[in-house]
Amino acid sequence: MSVMLDKLAAQESKRLLGDDELAERAERLSAQYFGGRARPKSVRWVTNQNTRWGSCTPSEGSIRLSHRLQGMPEYVVDYVLLHELAHLLVPGHGPRFWRLLEAYPRTERARGYLEGVVAAERLPHVPGARGE
Ligand SMILES: [Zn+2]
Repeated sequence: MSVMLDKLAAQESKRLLGDDELAERAERLSAQYFGGRARPKSVRWVTNQNTRWGSCTPSEGSIRLSHRLQGMPEYVVDYVLLHELAHLLVPGHGPRFWRLLEAYPRTERARGYLEGVVAAERLPHVPGARGE
């Protein structure tokens, strides 16, 4: 019994979305911000993508998100998902692309968060900063 509760607690604290939930979320975001026009055929997590947060192959309708996003705030995951969904409609990062993303109120905040993560990783380790 306690083992089961521990398992449930562990699942809850991680709050990781499975691939199915990720696909559902993409569908909801597409409906909410793009009038349902972005329809990916597959949405999944990948672990072999360390330099990009997400990627999209419009010809296949497939979207992949880096597992590094797991555990980040929901609005950040939603932003990356929405970003890749937008690429199903507009390739590249021109004005038309960013106009699509303006519909999402936390685009700037999410981009700032991700920039902060990248910057933090480049900082030299500060001894003692993490209680080490
Ligand atoms: Zn992009």
